[in-house]
Amino acid sequence: MRIAIALLIAVFCTNCLAANVPKPPTVTREEWKSEPKPLAEDTKHTPKYITIHHGGVDWKPGRDPAEFVRNVQKWGQKERNWPDLPYHFMIAPDGRIFECRPLEYAPQSNTKYDLAGHVGIELMGNFQSQRPSEAQLRSLVAISAWVANEYKIDLKHVAGHGDVAEGQTSCPGKDLHRYLKDGQLVEWIKKTLAGEDPQVKPGAPLPDGPKVVVDTPVETTEKK
Ligand SMILES: [Zn+2]
Repeated sequence: MRIAIALLIAVFCTNCLAANVPKPPTVTREEWKSEPKPLAEDTKHTPKYITIHHGGVDWKPGRDPAEFVRNVQKWGQKERNWPDLPYHFMIAPDGRIFECRPLEYAPQSNTKYDLAGHVGIELMGNFQSQRPSEAQLRSLVAISAWVANEYKIDLKHVAGHGDVAEGQTSCPGKDLHRYLKDGQLVEWIKKTLAGEDPQVKPGAPLPDGPKVVVDTPVETTEKK
């Protein structure tokens, strides 16, 4: 009896630890009206790396992120023959996380690197000329911590697209890559995994980097 109780407690506590890293809320594929084509069985993989991207096109405030996701999916199908989005998650300037390609399938890319094992997370915006929003950084930390916990990913394997496809791209852009370069992103993820509030705050603009945050309204002429 005592052994049974001890076992029960052990099982319960293992679950408690995992519960420290809940999956953040996401916009499901049904909600944003995904229209994927069938993914090839031989592209199934085991997630081992978290690879971070930016959209690479300047974000225009007021744009509908769901429409943006649908357009990227359509563009990839038409221009690249990609059955589904190249990324697993896309994060809008307001912090909403869109579920994209299912995690059990390898991503796709315009650049050359061994794609198997990579979980692609994209933040909408161009971080060579814009800055990611605080909401985007918070969501990036939350979803990365959840993926890392779920697949037991070594945090040494959290990198930017240009780090894994060396010399081929400036993605994820200067003002997002900075948090990989200085180790801040991994620190935030570690705190989340430890059940602490990571207190995510964007750093001051880099002296030679972009100054404007991605979701800054251009003008205040909105009517409603
Ligand atoms: Zn990229």
